Amino acid sequence: MNWVQRSVRDFGKVCSRSMASKTPVGFIGLGNMGNPMAKNLMKHGYPLIIYDVFPDACKEFQDAGEQVVSSPADVAEKADRIITMLPTTINTIEAYSGANGILKKVKKGSLLIDSSTIDPAVSKELAKEVEKMGAVFMDAPVSGGVGAARSGNLTFMVGGVEDEFAAAQELLGCMGSNVVYCGPVGTGQAAKICNNMLLAVSMIGTAEAMNLGIRLGLDPKLLAKILNMSSGRCWSSDTYNPVPGVMDGVPSANNYQGGFGTTLMAKDLGLAQDSATSTKSPILLGSLAHQIYRMMCAKGYSKKDFSSVFQFLREEETF
Ligand code: NAD
Repeated sequence: MNWVQRSVRDFGKVCSRSMASKTPVGFIGLGNMGNPMAKNLMKHGYPLIIYDVFPDACKEFQDAGEQVVSSPADVAEKADRIITMLPTTINTIEAYSGANGILKKVKKGSLLIDSSTIDPAVSKELAKEVEKMGAVFMDAPVSGGVGAARSGNLTFMVGGVEDEFAAAQELLGCMGSNVVYCGPVGTGQAAKICNNMLLAVSMIGTAEAMNLGIRLGLDPKLLAKILNMSSGRCWSSDTYNPVPGVMDGVPSANNYQGGFGTTLMAKDLGLAQDSATSTKSPILLGSLAHQIYRMMCAKGYSKKDFSSVFQFLREEETF
């Protein structure tokens, strides 16, 4: 096939998808993040084809008149644009390549967007598998947390074929205020892993500084105010402070419920660790953060928000 034939084919592919812009969109993984993201697609008028391994997660979508199906393959049979929002690399491989995975029934020309945070090397492998089926895969992990997912203000970091970015943006723009093209497939995940490694380090640093200040006799609200007008200020100190009573509407104000789980942070730091090993990059603080979050998971913090590292430090009197 020469370039003219290829262009005509690709133009037809993109065109038929975007012309049918309010045709059903598949959504797989309706958890803390997927639930509000899918609702924002509904608000923008997209009918949904829904699947989650945990049937209760689908109930409110079914009650709202959306179509719930019984496997990722069934989603792929009914929708030619699919978003996956799953916890881990293994879950994503299962949803794509499992016995009833997307790849079993994916239609030619489909656009498959994975917004889970997973290993960039696996994103690249999945992209190859998807391409063999005549479809397109993009990685589009998010930053912003549950609050931003609810308000439609997520940041999407998108990796994949640049020609398909506009088609992805049409959907991602309904759920996020920043949709950034990062480069070839896997680069969205790379950006996300770097961000979360920095977030973990800054959260632990904020928790340590707040704990030290409190033990030195400072009022936590006053200390947070001073940090936030000084050079120590960061997102963990001014938007998501880990100390109960300093801010309203954050997990630390609600016994560290909701938000971004410690297990997921430990997972993302594991991905950073693997990527650092394969690229021979020194990540001294990132590795230490990984160990701290792994220890927290082992000590009963796995279901709490990752800002509970403050509580973990408070309880380690012998440090
Ligand atoms: P979650 O555990 O709340 O939800 C995941 C959902 O996927 C669950 O409903 C689960 O039943 C479902 N699921 C698991 N395996 C499945 C499979 N094989 N097929 C279909 N459904 C399956 O997780 P979350 O907090 O929504 O996070 C999802 C992804 O987004 C993760 O990769 C996480 O790292 C990333 N992320 C989360 C946040 C946050 O603040 N929670 C922020 C940014 C990015």
